Amino acid sequence: MRIRSLTINSSAEVIVKIVREVLTLFKVEIVGRAGEADYAQLSVVNRQSGCEPPSVMTEVFLFANNGVCEQHTFVSTGQADEAVRAAVHRAVKRNLYQFFRMRFALPPAPWGILHGVRPTKIVHRWLRSGMSAAEIPARLAEDYACSAEKAQLITEVAVRQLPFLAQSAPRTVSIYVGIPFCLSRCLYCSFPSNLLPGREKLRVFMDVLSRDIQTAAEDVRALGLTVQSIYIGGGTPTSLPNDFFAEMLKMVYNAFYGTSVIEFTVEAGRPDSMTAEKIAAMREHAVTRVSVNPQSMQAETLERIGRHHSPEDIVRMVREIRAAFDVHINMDVILGLPGETAADVQRTMAAVTALAPDDITLHALALKRGSNLRRKMETEHIELPPDAETLRMSAAAVCAVKEAGYRPYYLYRQGYMSGDLENVGYARAGAESIYNIQIMEERQTIVGIGGAATTKVLGIRSGRMRSAFHAKDLVTYLRDVDIYIEKRRALLRAEYEEETP
Ligand code: SF4
Repeated sequence: MRIRSLTINSSAEVIVKIVREVLTLFKVEIVGRAGEADYAQLSVVNRQSGCEPPSVMTEVFLFANNGVCEQHTFVSTGQADEAVRAAVHRAVKRNLYQFFRMRFALPPAPWGILHGVRPTKIVHRWLRSGMSAAEIPARLAEDYACSAEKAQLITEVAVRQLPFLAQSAPRTVSIYVGIPFCLSRCLYCSFPSNLLPGREKLRVFMDVLSRDIQTAAEDVRALGLTVQSIYIGGGTPTSLPNDFFAEMLKMVYNAFYGTSVIEFTVEAGRPDSMTAEKIAAMREHAVTRVSVNPQSMQAETLERIGRHHSPEDIVRMVREIRAAFDVHINMDVILGLPGETAADVQRTMAAVTALAPDDITLHALALKRGSNLRRKMETEHIELPPDAETLRMSAAAVCAVKEAGYRPYYLYRQGYMSGDLENVGYARAGAESIYNIQIMEERQTIVGIGGAATTKVLGIRSGRMRSAFHAKDLVTYLRDVDIYIEKRRALLRAEYEEETP
């Protein structure tokens, strides 16, 4: 639906954001031009009354192109256990959601008005406040208009995470190392990854990375921090040549590995980046989890999305890793890839589950700015599968993982996800990735090293996350690494130095 202009009786950034989130949810565009719009204007007027808990009345004025105006009024009230600000924002959002659903007879959105990246955080907060798991789905439906299926899913995931979250203490951290290189660029990718450069440029990167690793290790030691997990991601870390890959693993191992480390993951993304030497290096440096990401097991799809390998290469890679050492294998699948149908996903899932990975992450395609896919959709009219087909893909994939005995253990959402879906990690019992849980729930400090890495420090008393970002752009990272090292050091010291026992 297209509307020429939007007015809101508040210029507060958060209210504008909330209103726009509901418009995006229902695919309503503000076009700003006459002649292209279905309606001339949408005006949203919110009025708050009371404060414990607050109530919000939202009046919506919808002007047709001929000037005729219709008025709709909705009222929502916050909950007594909610912060007033949060209750007001939720009420505004719920009122506008109700307006679109009722006025245009739109079906309910699976996630209702739950918009954030980490919906499980709400469930954790309620569990900590003493609410029982049995009460939570009804509360999610009431507060957020969340569907029964999604409410059950996030409650199940949040409850499953509790024993893992309990394993972390205030001074326990995880390490993230970013290797920002890939062998080619996938169609849907918006990550600031770089095509693998020649050895000379790589040498420069390795030297900078070494300084980054050493200084992070000094800080971890000096502040008395305990490393629980290590994650080497990117990019595709295995795109490094054999010798550089082994050198990088050795640096990370020497800097951080110890008896406290219970998980050491390497993203080995694509089979065109894997060799016997790299598998041997991972075995030698005590890697416990390797991520192999087929995304699809359909040859035409792999070709279409710019991955230069076949489904058979994936099978060979998994078998070679397994034959070399005892390691957990994770596999990622993307739902909603261009040109795919639910039948393709069914075949992909049959091929993936036949390999019996320890955990499988089902991603919904997120259409991101900066991806070649977004550009090609505008210039070459590539189309994504319709939302209804993506939902059938999701149903087929979820059915396959459940039948194969996997259980959901972490979940996150992104903007612009196909079918308004979510990303969910499924694992066989005992194979849940602790790093994935900690980073998604933001309940542990992550020390970021390398290209495009983020350090997130969890306040011991405040429970708030503070972040320091390394440059996404490689040239800037290489040039200014000392600045990023200092910023990370300052952030870690501010939280942990005065707390050092
Ligand atoms: S391998 Fe991953 S990081 Fe690299 S281009 Fe593809 S999606 Fe992006």
